[in-house]
Amino acid sequence: MKFIYRRVVLKIGGEVIQDFNNTNFSNCIIHDIIREVQYLVRHGIQVSIVIGGGNLFRGATLSGLGINRVTSDYIGMLSTVINGLFLKDLFNQFSVSSCLMSSLFVNSICQQYNLEQALDCLSKSVVMIFCGGIGNPCFTTDSVACLKAIETQSEIIIKGTKVDGIYSKDPNKYKDVILYHQLNYNDVLRYEFQVMDLTAFILARDYKIPICIFNIARSGALRRILSGYNEGTIINETIKDII
Ligand code: UDP
Repeated sequence: MKFIYRRVVLKIGGEVIQDFNNTNFSNCIIHDIIREVQYLVRHGIQVSIVIGGGNLFRGATLSGLGINRVTSDYIGMLSTVINGLFLKDLFNQFSVSSCLMSSLFVNSICQQYNLEQALDCLSKSVVMIFCGGIGNPCFTTDSVACLKAIETQSEIIIKGTKVDGIYSKDPNKYKDVILYHQLNYNDVLRYEFQVMDLTAFILARDYKIPICIFNIARSGALRRILSGYNEGTIINETIKDII
């Protein structure tokens, strides 16, 4: 397989670790992802993973329950650290070299985020796992994915979801839906397609980093995306408007 991207950021939500059966830390999909990342690394792709925490705590949900918003967000960031530790251990089990770095200060359990060291790891085919968000409240891990892509000069952000990509209408409600394979940034804003949070999306647009939304449960999806096959929806600035 010939790859058209060499350095990528994969954003995975915490729910992937929870799996889709509501059993905490059930392993099936995450095992597939690790095998897929292992394949990519063996083929010379440099992979960073940004892990979410939504399977444990999201700031918005907690604050809705009456917890102070900033505290809620710190709890959310700590959730991403828990998931990061879990992910790192799974990579160890598969004998894939990885490095867990946190932007939140939790130095007794993983390294503090350091760009130079992260780039060094990537150049040595070590999978980078970024947790702890950006270390500040009021953001989501989508923004972390975009920031890490900018900082590591990655060529694409790949966001795993439960759906196959971006549809013209909700496929759960309508039958006459179109799955877009390619969109430009303006289309996404104009038609208010749900891709990622707006702060994150604007960052990717301003720094011209393509985003791919794909179904994380589809076997072999990562290698197809990175080879340029039609998988999921790719958003960048060169695609013509949809209308
Ligand atoms: N969070 C934060 N700052 C960050 C990243 C995350 O405060 O830079 C908090 C926020 O409360 C968020 C939670 O951590 O809801 C978990 O992240 P996210 O919701 O992105 O997880 P996902 O939905 O991807 O599993």
